[in-house]
Amino acid sequence: MKEFAYRRVAEVRDALTLVAENDGTRYLGGGTNLVDLMKDGIEAPTRLVDVRFLPLAGVSEAPDGRLVIGATTTNSDVAAHPEVRRRYPALSQAVLAGASGQLRNMATVGGNLLQRTRCAYFADPSQACNKRVPGSGCSAIAGEHHNHAVLGRSDHCAATHPSDMAVAMAALDTVVRYETLDGVGEIPISEFYLPVGDTPWQETALPPGALITAVTLPRPAVSSRSRYRKVRERASYAFATVSIAADLDVHDGWVRSARIALGGVASRPWRARTAEALLREGPATADRFRAAADAELSAAEPLPGNGYKVTLARNLIVAVLTELADRAAE
Ligand code: SF4
Repeated sequence: MKEFAYRRVAEVRDALTLVAENDGTRYLGGGTNLVDLMKDGIEAPTRLVDVRFLPLAGVSEAPDGRLVIGATTTNSDVAAHPEVRRRYPALSQAVLAGASGQLRNMATVGGNLLQRTRCAYFADPSQACNKRVPGSGCSAIAGEHHNHAVLGRSDHCAATHPSDMAVAMAALDTVVRYETLDGVGEIPISEFYLPVGDTPWQETALPPGALITAVTLPRPAVSSRSRYRKVRERASYAFATVSIAADLDVHDGWVRSARIALGGVASRPWRARTAEALLREGPATADRFRAAADAELSAAEPLPGNGYKVTLARNLIVAVLTELADRAAE
């Protein structure tokens, strides 16, 4: 690991100033991804600004009913918070489906959103990777890609986003709040992650030097139910092969609204807006769930080795929507 300076700060403005004054400075949250990348020589910051002691931890309710989760709240605290469990079970389930207990005790909300892909070529400096070295090529497309993207990928990158939490937040219309030296800003999570296109190294819409300070979640409909389900290659401590977060509002067998996001299939949490539009204002039947899933996945462009993900995603959408509709009928 290359030598680096370390600073601990107590005020957001001090953190912003330190990052603004030096290109090589990075924010350090729980360090569960960044430090690994530093050990592997993928990241080489000259200075780390530890943000864990900023007054940004905690979960609170805003006057308008939104839930505000501070950026340095640990993943464990998010998953265990009574209001998260009561109002947004999919979020609690998603966080608990990620990593291990030890990692969740360290990892922060802000860091979780900004974690990098686990594409093996990205993590290997000897391999071509457009995300790590712009313009160098993509080793995965003609290489080992069985766990890569099937939706929204490009010829420049087919990496997937590794976060479970972000998938649930995408389905729940979360807004990311950040701060720069110019002030406070907000980005809906649906616009937070950029399409991969021909610039896979540009991953988010955060302005340069911005620090994520919180996320906010709108109050869900009283009768809606949410669920996160993850398929992975082993029972724990594995990234998603395909995952789904869904929030379904069904009344008397009639779908009033559906919000669906998929994980493990794209460079960002994939909001299934085509499926949602087809499901809205119609009966909650298995046929309609299947048709919505098929319509969403008609946009898939699998690589030779990962077409199985399309079938898996389809079956997962149908299974989770059926489960939520059945619970609404109880
Ligand atoms: Fe790099 Fe993306 Fe290709 Fe993986 S899929 S090697 S991250 S460019």
